Amino acid sequence: MKNKALKFEKITQICKMRKSLSYPSFLIAICILFSNCHAGAKVMAQKIEKPLNIILLIGDGMGLAQISAAAFMNGGLALELFKNIGLVKTSSANNYITDSAAGATAYSTGEKTYNGAIGLSKDSISLPTILEMSEAHGLSTGLIATCSITHATPGSFFGHQKNREMHKEIANDFYTKGIDYVAGTGKPYFDMNRLKADNYTVHTGKDLIGLDAIQKYFWFYNDSIDAPKSAERGLWLKQATSQGIQFLSSNKKGFFLMVEGSQIDWGGHANDFNYTVTELIDFDHAVRAALEFAQKDGNTLVLVTADHETGGLSLDAGSLTNKTIEHHYSSTHHSGIMVPIYAYGPGSELFTGTIENTDVFKKMKSLYGF
Ligand code: MG
Ligand code: ZN
Repeated sequence: MKNKALKFEKITQICKMRKSLSYPSFLIAICILFSNCHAGAKVMAQKIEKPLNIILLIGDGMGLAQISAAAFMNGGLALELFKNIGLVKTSSANNYITDSAAGATAYSTGEKTYNGAIGLSKDSISLPTILEMSEAHGLSTGLIATCSITHATPGSFFGHQKNREMHKEIANDFYTKGIDYVAGTGKPYFDMNRLKADNYTVHTGKDLIGLDAIQKYFWFYNDSIDAPKSAERGLWLKQATSQGIQFLSSNKKGFFLMVEGSQIDWGGHANDFNYTVTELIDFDHAVRAALEFAQKDGNTLVLVTADHETGGLSLDAGSLTNKTIEHHYSSTHHSGIMVPIYAYGPGSELFTGTIENTDVFKKMKSLYGF
C-alpha cells in the first residue's frame, strides 16, 4: 500500500512537472519511473516459491567428465534439460577428498564429518537427517539405490554409525523410522520379522508388483548384498523411481525421496570407462522420470548432484563420427574437483552459484520449512 501511494505521488508529480518540463526531460522522468517499477517487479518475481516434494538424485562419483562422456556417447541426457545449475565443493571435515559416507552425511544432515561416518557429526554425535525430519513432519519418504540400502549413500539418510562398514548396525537403525518406500539390495542385513512388525510388504525380485493397498514397501532387487550392473538390471532403477514417486505422491503433505545411481562410482574405482558411462546413462533415465513428474506436478523440486568425482577422469580426444572417446583416469580413488548440482522446480534458483555440500541440506530444510 505504501509503495502504491508513493508511486501515485510520483506520477502526480511528473504530471505537474509536465507543464514546466521540456519534452525530452518529461520522457527521462517517465523512464526513471518505469525503471523503478521494473526493478520492483523483479524483486517480486524473486520471491522464492516452496516445493511440497523434494527428489534428491545422487550420482555417486559423477563428475563433469563422466557427464560429458555419457552425454556425447548417448546423444544427449535428461540432465541437459535443467536450467538452474551450480557447483558443489565436496571436502569432508577431515580430508580434502571426501568418501561417500561423509559426502552423503553432508547432504543428509548439513554437517561436514570425517570420512567413513554415517549420519554422525565430526564428534560422533548423531544428527537428524532430512529424511527423518520429513517423517517427523508427516511427509512420506523413500530411498532407492542400485546397491545395498545399508551402503554409505542411502545408509547416511537413516543410519548413525561411526563406520560405513557396520552394515548390520546401519540396518538396525532402519526399523521404526517409518520410511515408506525402499528399493535396492542388502536383504541379508535385514531382519524380515522386524520388517513385517513394521508393516512392510517385502518383495524380492526384479519385476514390479502392484502397490494398491500397500502401506509400506521394501523392494529387494535380489536375495543378495550385491547388485548387478545396469546391463543386467535393465530399466530397474527408472521403474523403481517412477513407481516410488507415484506411491509417495499420494501424501498431500508432500514427500522426500533420495535416489542413488550407486555404481557410477564403482566404474570410476575400476577405471572401467564403459561401466562408468552405462551406469550414468541408466541413472539419467531415473532423472528423466523425476523431471517428467515434476513438470506435471508443479510442486516438486528435483535436485541432481554427486557426492564427489571418482577416478580423475580426463577426456583426451574423440571421434565425432564414431562417437568414441579416448580417455584416461588419473587415479582409482575419488578426486577433489567440484561437482555440478542441477535443480528444477520451486526453489531451484537457490541451487545456483558455488556452494558447499552442506548448503544443499540447509536449503532443502529451509524450503520444506522445518
Ligand atoms: Mg554410494
Ligand atoms: Zn567411491
